[in-house]
Amino acid sequence: MEMKQLPEKMARMTPQRRVILEALRKSGNHPSADRVYELVREKLPHVSMGTVYRNLETLAEAGMIQRLELGPGPRHYDAGIKEHYHIRCLQCGKIEDTLVELPSGLDRAARIKTGFQVVGHELEFVGYCPGCAKNIGKIKIK
Ligand SMILES: [Zn+2]
Ligand SMILES: [Zn+2]
Repeated sequence: MEMKQLPEKMARMTPQRRVILEALRKSGNHPSADRVYELVREKLPHVSMGTVYRNLETLAEAGMIQRLELGPGPRHYDAGIKEHYHIRCLQCGKIEDTLVELPSGLDRAARIKTGFQVVGHELEFVGYCPGCAKNIGKIKIK
């Protein structure tokens, strides 16, 4: 994925953070902190869960990765920082990128309708992934 120029305020790139960032990029699929921890431990066997978690938060605050708070369960992280939208499976919790593009001018439309000073929007698609949809007969829809 093409990366934007990193902002000036970027977090200092320690060797540990580099390994964490690489693990996140390689995992490619919006892992939870637990999953990133497993991947990082392959390179840094003595790293603690707390260290991985704190570094993920620091990187997210510096805008170098995205923190995703989608649905119930743990936070997920995304190495992709360009604006894009996600779809989440209601059965297995899998999160994928959508390539859906929204019409431009949504924020402006919301401002006009509400009078709010709009700074952004959040959008999440939800449904059943192909694997889970196959078993749809067995799924109890809440
Ligand atoms: Zn699924
Ligand atoms: Zn994503």
